Parts: sequence; C-alpha cells; structure tokens
Amino acid sequence: MYQSSKAQRGQLPVAPRGNSPVSVIGAGIAGAWQALLFAQAGHAVTLHERSDAAMTLSTSHWAGGMLAPWCESEISEPVISRLGLRALDLWRQELPDTPFNGSLVVAHARDRNDFERFAKLTSGHRRLDARGLAELEPSLEGRFRDALFFADEGHVEPRRVLPKLHERIIAAGGTIKFNSEVAPSELDGVVIDCRGIFARDGEPELRGVKGEMILIETDEVELSRPVRLIHPRWPLYVIPREDGLFMLGATSLEAEDTGVSVRSALELLGAAYAVHPAFAEARIVEFGSGLRPAYPDNLPRIAVHDNRIAVNGLYRHGFLIAPALAELTLAFVERGQIDNEVMQCA
Ligand SMILES: Cc1cc2nc3c(=O)[nH]c(=O)nc-3n(C[C@H](O)[C@H](O)[C@H](O)COP(=O)(O)OP(=O)(O)OC[C@H]3O[C@@H](n4cnc5c(N)ncnc54)[C@H](O)[C@@H]3O)c2cc1C
Repeated sequence: MYQSSKAQRGQLPVAPRGNSPVSVIGAGIAGAWQALLFAQAGHAVTLHERSDAAMTLSTSHWAGGMLAPWCESEISEPVISRLGLRALDLWRQELPDTPFNGSLVVAHARDRNDFERFAKLTSGHRRLDARGLAELEPSLEGRFRDALFFADEGHVEPRRVLPKLHERIIAAGGTIKFNSEVAPSELDGVVIDCRGIFARDGEPELRGVKGEMILIETDEVELSRPVRLIHPRWPLYVIPREDGLFMLGATSLEAEDTGVSVRSALELLGAAYAVHPAFAEARIVEFGSGLRPAYPDNLPRIAVHDNRIAVNGLYRHGFLIAPALAELTLAFVERGQIDNEVMQCA
C-alpha cells in the first residue's frame, strides 16, 4: 500500500535496533501514540514533555479531534486518507469507547455549489433529506434541506484522550516525565522527536499554520457528532463535547502569532449561529489557538537521521494519522521496514 523510492531500491540506511531503550520527546498526539506502541511492543520507553500534564503548550490541546478521513479527502492528498483509514482501526483497538457515530456536512442555500462540490470530491457519505437529518440530530430539525452523512467517521476530545493515552503508556510499562524539556542531542539510544512546531531548530522547513477555536456552553442544543458547515474559505465546524460544551473551529491562517482575531471570532460564532440560532444564547468559555506543524507540501514525514527519528508535519491531521505513523516507526525500528510513503532516510 505504501511505497517509497528508497524502499523500491531496497536500501536500508539504518540497521534495525531490536529492543533498545527508546526516548520520545513531546507528549502531544504524535508522541503519545509513538510511546504507546513502542511500550506495548516491549521497549523501555521514556516520554519527555516540557509541559505539565495539562498539555497546554501543545498544539494537540487546541484541536478538534475529528477522525475524518473521508471529509478531509476534499483538501488532502490520498496518503492522508490511507494513513487515516489504518489509524481508525488502531483507535478502535486501543480505545474501543471512541465514538464512531459519523459526521455531518451541511450548507446554507448560498453555498449550495460548494456543497455539491464537496459531495463530488469526497466518498464514504450518503445524502440525508431534512427528515433523515432530523432523525439523526433532532436539534437540527428544519434547519437544512439536506446533509451529507459520513457514517464511519469518529471524533475524540483531545483534552480527555491525551490523558487516557498517557495512562495507557504507563500501564504498558513506559515512563512519562512532564516538565522535562530535553534536546534530541542530549539523549542516547533511539530518539523519536515529536516536538511539533518546536522542532524547528532541526527542521527549518517546518512552519506553523494557525488554527483558532472557541469553546462555548449551552444546554439549548444537543448534538451527537461533529457538524461541518460549508464555508467559502475554511471548513468550519461545531463539535459536541461533554457537559454541554461545543468546540467551534477552525480557521487556517499562514500566521504564527497567538490569540484569536475579532474577524475569526465573528466567523466562528457566525458558523455556530448558522448551524442553530440557539447558539446565540450560549456562554463563551474559551478562545484559543494552536500552530499546526506543517512542511511545505503539508504532508507528514518520518525522517531518520542516524539514531534520531523525527515524526512531524502532522498539519491538520494529527489525531487522524498519529496511530498509523507510530505503527510505521515501530516497523522501521524493529524490522527495518521502509516500504511506505512518508519515511525519509538521510
Ligand atoms: C484549532 C485546531 C483544530 C484541529 N483539529 C484537528 C482535528 O479535528 N483532527 C485532527 O486530526 N487534527 C486536528 N488539528 C491538528 C492537530 O492538532 C495537529 O496535527 C497535532 O496536534 C500535532 O501534534 P504533535 O504531537 O505533532 O504536536 P504537539 O501537539 O504540539 O506536541 C508537541 C509536544 O512537544 C512538546 N515539546 C516541544 N519541545 C519540547 C522539548 N524540547 N522537550 C520536551 N517536550 C517538548 C510540546 O510541549 C508539545 O506538548 C487541529 C489543530 C488546531 C490548531
């Protein structure tokens, strides 16, 4: 399924390392999955994270957590869907209570053409009429003429799922050191560098793509799954969280500052209001933003430099693809396997 030119030439630049100790730097979604699969495979894993356990310094803290390979195929390369489909299996295996109850795409009349374009560019959906939509999400009764239902997509709540993954790393015999800022050069053995945007010292091509979000709270609207609203500039969405919370996301800006602009806030809140006017009465709980780590081609990389393996560039798909990237890294370290599309060996 995955192919790289070096694999085709049969080159293996770094010998597989058996069960050596493994250090992972960064406990965001990329590093958490790496540490988990390596610990479960019997390696002595230490995961270093400069933040405390609340993970507020990570991009992952701000994410939507949608596991949406079919919706994302509208704007992503096919490799993202392939990695994402494999990752859905790994999410299901590891955390069987992950909600896989689908996602919805809706549009207002003025964005009809974009809605039809989205339908053409994606697969894995069926069209619901207004009644079908109301059966699935009673709060949306009478709101939209139709919808696309991506029945097999899932979503996780990043601020709940990261601690769950961290617990599982410890249960598998791994060690996590929070408030531990380390440089890859300080560590011996196999080092898996998952520092996201903070790895720019060694990865100058990395850039941050700013994503802004707002958290609101109301008991006037109930949703069971993410709802994407077609928008001419960004895929805007409303994701239900526990306890009456909803995440509104996300902008995508070529900027590396922090905070949320008035313009973005208006667009995000406007999207929520367009999905349901009762959101106008919701309480704003939080504004925030994160920098998605991206290479120029917006594709992820597993880059091998001697004993350091950098896993980065997860861009807008970290939650979707991190498990599959961890599986590929493990296959390389244990068996020297490089037959995939994302691995680069120096
Ligand atoms: C608003 C928004 C919405 C998003 N929605 C989705 C979505 O719905 N689905 C999806 O799949 N993706 C989504 N993403 C993208 C996703 O969040 C990113 O792809 C992902 O978080 C990147 O994860 P990471 O582990 O590479 O980086 P990070 O989460 O940033 O983790 C890197 C960690 O390394 C730590 N670190 C850095 N330097 C050091 C050091 N020297 N020593 C120790 N620790 C260090 C940092 O503190 C940090 O915790 C969204 C992103 C944003 C901003």
